[in-house]
Amino acid sequence: MIKGFYHSIDTFGAVDGRGLRYVLFLAGCKLGCIFCHNPDTWEQGHNTISVDDVIEDIKRYRRFYDASNGGLTVSGGEPLMQADFVAELFKRCRHEKIHTTLDTSGYASPDDLKKVLAYSDAVLFSIKAVNELKHKKLTGKKNDVILSNLCLAASVSTVTIRYVVIPGINNSHDDILALGSLINNLPSALSVELLPYHTLGRTKWDALEKDYLLHEVPAASEQDIEQVRLWLKEQNINVC
Ligand code: SF4
Repeated sequence: MIKGFYHSIDTFGAVDGRGLRYVLFLAGCKLGCIFCHNPDTWEQGHNTISVDDVIEDIKRYRRFYDASNGGLTVSGGEPLMQADFVAELFKRCRHEKIHTTLDTSGYASPDDLKKVLAYSDAVLFSIKAVNELKHKKLTGKKNDVILSNLCLAASVSTVTIRYVVIPGINNSHDDILALGSLINNLPSALSVELLPYHTLGRTKWDALEKDYLLHEVPAASEQDIEQVRLWLKEQNINVC
């Protein structure tokens, strides 16, 4: 049986999709976001879990998920690095009538994305920056594949874009106009969830002896979030 490399499990997640959720954080990520608050998920490590194990574990708490209209979210790291495992898991969930959400950066091959989309009920799709140079600065990678994968996901699933607002980095008026334009040109309307950049991940970078490059950047304030919300609403985009 196929197994997945995982980092951790949250059996009562309340912030990664609708309702209460079983959140499986898979291990492995090929982006290197300089603001990542989970750099300890980048390497795959040795912890593995089977589809059967996950389903059995979900069943222990299922009444809470069902009562809150929740389900399973697979997050990371980047879940699409293990697309076969996630597709198999979501397929089983469909059979068991468990709602599934994919939480992805979109940095994956379109074929891997399609495999998982076939069994996903919803997608949380993280956009770091629309401007390619800024994206490269933030993640080390170009965003062309990510943006075309966003279009692909929006054409077949219910997508919510997640945007981490990083003061002075990706929250200028031009940044948000570009984000709005991107969204308004997608094949279906979707919502944006704004996440304030915070500094809690720094200790993990220190523990892993990695250089944290955003020491000078403050956490996003309520005003920072409100300003981005306003600019998106001016472009008729739903912010949740
Ligand atoms: S995609 Fe997510 S897990 Fe990967 S480096 Fe970026 S923030 Fe971290």
